[in-house]
Amino acid sequence: MKLDLLAFGAHPDDVEAGCGGFLIKYAQQGKKVGIVDLSLAELSTNGTIPVRMEEAKNAAHIIGAVVRENLEFPNNFFVNSKENQEKIINVIRKYKPEIVLLPYWNDRHPDHAASRDIIFPALFTAGLKNFISGASFPHRPKYVFFYQLWYGFTPTFILDISKEFPVKIDAILAYQSQFVKKEGSIDTKDTNPAFLKYIEARHRNSGYEIGVEYGEAYASATPLGIKDMQSLLPNYD
Ligand SMILES: [Zn+2]
Repeated sequence: MKLDLLAFGAHPDDVEAGCGGFLIKYAQQGKKVGIVDLSLAELSTNGTIPVRMEEAKNAAHIIGAVVRENLEFPNNFFVNSKENQEKIINVIRKYKPEIVLLPYWNDRHPDHAASRDIIFPALFTAGLKNFISGASFPHRPKYVFFYQLWYGFTPTFILDISKEFPVKIDAILAYQSQFVKKEGSIDTKDTNPAFLKYIEARHRNSGYEIGVEYGEAYASATPLGIKDMQSLLPNYD
């Protein structure tokens, strides 16, 4: 199956929190959207692997993703090896996405930064015809953008997700084991009831910067080319 957009996360829930609005918007436009998680997040303080997997399935359904895979890298010990880059290359060649989204390269969680280090070079190699891997044909995405998890950055662009924001929150809340404080759960930054207020404040902040209600921030490693100004929101009024 060919995808229009493929989003990578280090853990199931990264994609929802970082770029859920982008995926929801695209899926609602009839585009094919998929998710690849690099690990099962087995070292998480709360929840179990089966519960997290069920939550990930539900979240993908809420987003409208047609594919969700897990590469099962060991949580907190991602190794930037040829073998692991090849797993990314095979995914890229299998789904042939035009757009790839991945975590921003500097973050509080080591797996988020490590994801960038493994995925970004693999996106380039995936397009090399002389790199032979299985029966797959070379493919390189046209667009690569980094999404925000914990650490902020100066965005290359902010996407208006005002319409998609409520669904994004539903997708985040599909991870009840992570974001809802329950009897027996251990307090973390995620189970803190202030977390959802923080998420809302962050998206409102990004939205306000571009004159809309809610926004998602993205970084690009290269400049964005534009053909005309018509789809740009005013940036100085
Ligand atoms: Zn994560």
